[in-house]
Amino acid sequence: MLVKDYKQDFPFLIHARQTDGRVYLDNAATTQKPRVVLDELLKFYETSNANVHRGVGSISCQATEWYEAARKQVADFINAPAASNIVFTRSATESLNWIAFGYAVPELQTGDEILISIAEHHSNLVPWQQVAQRTGATLIYVDVTPNGQFDLEDFRAKISPKTKIVSVQQVSNVLGNVNPIKKIGALTHRFHATLIVDGAQSVPHLPVDVQDLDADFLVFSGHKVYGPTGIGVLYGKPDQLARMQPTQFGGEMIDYVHREGAAFQPAPLKFEAGTPNVAGAIGLKAALIYLQKQGLDQLLAREQALMNRALTGLNRITGVEIYGSAHPEEHLGVIAFNLHGIHPHDAATGFDLEGIELRAGHHCAEPLMDDLGVAATLRMSLAFYNDNADIDRFLTAVQHVKEFFANGTSEAE
Ligand code: PMP
Repeated sequence: MLVKDYKQDFPFLIHARQTDGRVYLDNAATTQKPRVVLDELLKFYETSNANVHRGVGSISCQATEWYEAARKQVADFINAPAASNIVFTRSATESLNWIAFGYAVPELQTGDEILISIAEHHSNLVPWQQVAQRTGATLIYVDVTPNGQFDLEDFRAKISPKTKIVSVQQVSNVLGNVNPIKKIGALTHRFHATLIVDGAQSVPHLPVDVQDLDADFLVFSGHKVYGPTGIGVLYGKPDQLARMQPTQFGGEMIDYVHREGAAFQPAPLKFEAGTPNVAGAIGLKAALIYLQKQGLDQLLAREQALMNRALTGLNRITGVEIYGSAHPEEHLGVIAFNLHGIHPHDAATGFDLEGIELRAGHHCAEPLMDDLGVAATLRMSLAFYNDNADIDRFLTAVQHVKEFFANGTSEAE
């Protein structure tokens, strides 16, 4: 299962292997890009760079064709019914903000309720605080169970005819658990509320089917699915996109303009004011084609094998606290953990010295940290291009960091 050396497809990882041998385990933050993505960016700028949707020149037409083909590719990747369901944004964060301010703010009023989980990334939390402040709606948090899973019972108790928006992540960027989106969605729709899915950590790891999930909206970031930074996706059902209002205005998104006002294009163009990130969309397309060629199920199986190895190894080391579920399948790509008696930021410096790139902090999920009773954790997050050697280097580093601080403590005593 771990036979293929995927690193060969990633210039960054080849470079790391040939130089300092650093192990990249911060994939939940951003992923490395396969050569096909970099090649495609170069090819676009070398052969087809022109503005889209404007010129009649053949290069402009070609750039437009490439850009629109990328939209179609994204639609296929998440099984959206049509390319017109896909709006290009800057990131998952921007997508969520556009939904919050273009869809929720105009529709919500005092007495309405917004339901999100306490485990949401700040990108799917702070915008809803703002919506609540601006509309008079109430923001209500669904709890997590003691091991950090979405608490369906609490959700059932809190959803009501007042609920207008339910916005939840499909996969947690801290604990890696997979939320039961279909169950959440069925209940959401029974109450005629709108289901928004933050797919920032699911689309990079799981086959995601927006029709099967029955999501009204789903968002993700290109840079976490091996595509370029600065390109994000907002999927919406046609009716929802028709109801959603643009939050940015300017060129490209208008149908016509006169002195007194303007009329807008239909979705998706009505949202894409100004010159879009054409190269970003084209690079994202190349990334998605690359993933499909490798086989999403195969990549997932490989990640799960790596995750098993990491969790089994970590469980064998004393003084390691792992947050979340005990089951490897509930750690999709990430393990949040701490080393007893060592501040995660100190430990992260130790990992850095060991040549392991990982993360320490609150992972943009401070309310979840409060719930877990910690200020911060370490987080290792893997991708299919990691291999057994990376996991073993990581586990050895855990031992070394532990020993280093244990020695430091005894010397100080
Ligand atoms: N949601 C989740 C669950 C995330 O992990 C992240 C990124 N860490 C985001 C949203 C925001 O993504 P971006 O910073 O690319 O907008």
